[in-house]
Amino acid sequence: MEDRITDIGPKHYEEFYPPVIKNNKAKWLYHEILKPGVLVHVSETGDEVYTVRAGGARLMSVGLIREICDIADKHCNGYFRFTTRNNIEFMVDKKDKVEPLIKDLESRKFPGGSYKFPVGGTGAGITNIVHTQGWIHCHTPATDASGPVKAAMDVLFDDFKNMRLPAHLRVSLACCLNMCGAVHCSDIAILGYHRKPPMVDSAYVDSMCEIPLAIAACPTAAIKPKKIDVDGQQKNSVEVNPNRCMFCGNCYTMCPALPLSDKEGDGIVIMAGGKVSNRISNPKFSKVVVAFLPNEAPRWPSTTATIKKMVDVYANDARKYERFGEWAERIGWERFFEKTGLEFTHHLIDDFRDPAYYTWRQTTNFKF
Ligand code: SF4
Ligand code: SF4
Repeated sequence: MEDRITDIGPKHYEEFYPPVIKNNKAKWLYHEILKPGVLVHVSETGDEVYTVRAGGARLMSVGLIREICDIADKHCNGYFRFTTRNNIEFMVDKKDKVEPLIKDLESRKFPGGSYKFPVGGTGAGITNIVHTQGWIHCHTPATDASGPVKAAMDVLFDDFKNMRLPAHLRVSLACCLNMCGAVHCSDIAILGYHRKPPMVDSAYVDSMCEIPLAIAACPTAAIKPKKIDVDGQQKNSVEVNPNRCMFCGNCYTMCPALPLSDKEGDGIVIMAGGKVSNRISNPKFSKVVVAFLPNEAPRWPSTTATIKKMVDVYANDARKYERFGEWAERIGWERFFEKTGLEFTHHLIDDFRDPAYYTWRQTTNFKF
């Protein structure tokens, strides 16, 4: 970093380490989860770091972040960090600082009475749900992101606070199949899904879009140019072949006159059984287990009830350390559908067989 001649980008992350982390880099011996939400890391120098994990949200107000900073100033010399699942971790260097910190976090409530900083989300339980932009920000979502995630976390809250499950259970949401979330490899995944091809607003296509760009954007070559009569005027426009369209929304990204959102067409797909970990078995892709659920803002009752049922059956039926997909594979997917009460339909049959599917290495495990 010496003589670096730029002010672009963030400062080097090492400037933000708490002193105890900086002093013990590469010297940590082991770590333990003392109770849900509390970890200890022990160094060969004798130093210890106690971490208290509190649930956060992907979209936070400035007011909430200021409150987090105040808590860090009060208990942790101003240091805290965010996990990749948007949890907040407060770190202290003495055991006797842990309980006052937890008490302070748990005492802070929103005006409606819910916890601002619930402590939990570690080990064999459910941690915060990662999600994408949703209706608040992106242009192609088939469902909202923060809304269903809040509703799902509300029904899964007990499993955030305790560690009763056989193993980690990771839930993710991506609001369309472009998938900025990790739905391809999560134990349970909520995926926004379009079921109708884009509408063509021919009055605006030529004036708002570069038609060749919109055509080139389609991965399945479903779009071709067409002259269309609009109020007696011949307009340059496009035609979409619905049989080729896979509802990906790429054309809408390039051309706002090809909108894809549709009240009946859009909804949620539930996937299950994915994981990234190499433990016990290779990493797995998630599989579709519910082909469609409608968007039911603001509380998404069908989606949350389905997820809760899946988690409860897994919690009671899986062996210790077995991840969701390992459990389903051991008992057989047929039994999975029987036990969870989910309906098996032809939409769930995975008929995608491309050479890449079985020739590419899909795990980080070495094979010789
Ligand atoms: Fe936008 Fe799709 Fe990403 Fe959601 S998953 S933020 S809709 S691109
Ligand atoms: Fe092509 Fe995707 Fe647009 Fe369908 S939604 S026409 S597949 S780019």
